[in-house]
Amino acid sequence: QNESTNVLSVKDVTMKFGGLTAVNDLSFDLKSHTIHGLIGPNGCGKSTTINVLTGIYKPQQGQVLIGSENIVGLTTEVIAKKGMVRTFQNLQLFSGLTVLENVMVGLHSSYKSNLLSILLGLNSTKKEERDIKASAYHLLEFVGLEKQAFKKAGSLSYGQGRFLEIARAIATKPKVLLLDEPAAGLNHSEILSMMEMILKIKKIYIAILLVEHHMDMVMNICDEITVLNFGQKIAAGTPTEIQNHPEVMESYLGN
Ligand code: ADP
Ligand code: MG
Repeated sequence: QNESTNVLSVKDVTMKFGGLTAVNDLSFDLKSHTIHGLIGPNGCGKSTTINVLTGIYKPQQGQVLIGSENIVGLTTEVIAKKGMVRTFQNLQLFSGLTVLENVMVGLHSSYKSNLLSILLGLNSTKKEERDIKASAYHLLEFVGLEKQAFKKAGSLSYGQGRFLEIARAIATKPKVLLLDEPAAGLNHSEILSMMEMILKIKKIYIAILLVEHHMDMVMNICDEITVLNFGQKIAAGTPTEIQNHPEVMESYLGN
């Protein structure tokens, strides 16, 4: 795989809500095999950017390219099939299903039978069911939750839930994973595990856009960083370049 290929290109994207410009003429590239940080003060447009990329909002201006294809106007489901998936700033798990079943939800789209029929044991062949369970279990091992496989997702700690959410997101083997504040609400040791896991995800050739407030995490694991303020890009570069950027420090101190 070519190290400098752009898996995702954001070109001149503007997203307005009435009179408010949440994202203002934003452009950046996510290169394959990299972790790209998107940082900036609260309300600067980070989550809106993720919502635009995943088809939840349609921007008034600009293009979002996966490879060379513009995906603006496509639905979230179609964009996921093209290889871009996300996690949410707030957990979105099925608390009544088991941990394993939550990952199976993420896997079902790559199999013929739908999730409900698999959970009910209908229509799906025994082999298909076994394959899905085995893949789901393997993903739980990847994120370190295999011991929780048969517990209800609702019984997990908040931190464990965040890891489960990521297991589910990477189940479809996306090209691009968008993480919205994965460290929020985690304790120190969970943050270290989260950093390790994000680095492991990069190793399996999933490029990552990391929205995060936890600066130690961002500065330690990102290859490149884009900084937003009031919806506009105010700086971009390596972690070292960003840490030495006066305007960036000002926008954070002013927050
Ligand atoms: P961040 O994730 O960087 O904290 P957001 O992207 O959530 O910021 O929000 C950027 C701005 O857009 C904020 O002023 C927010 O209130 C506004 N905004 C976000 N979503 C909507 C929406 N659906 N309707 C109206 N305003 C919104
Ligand atoms: Mg946000």
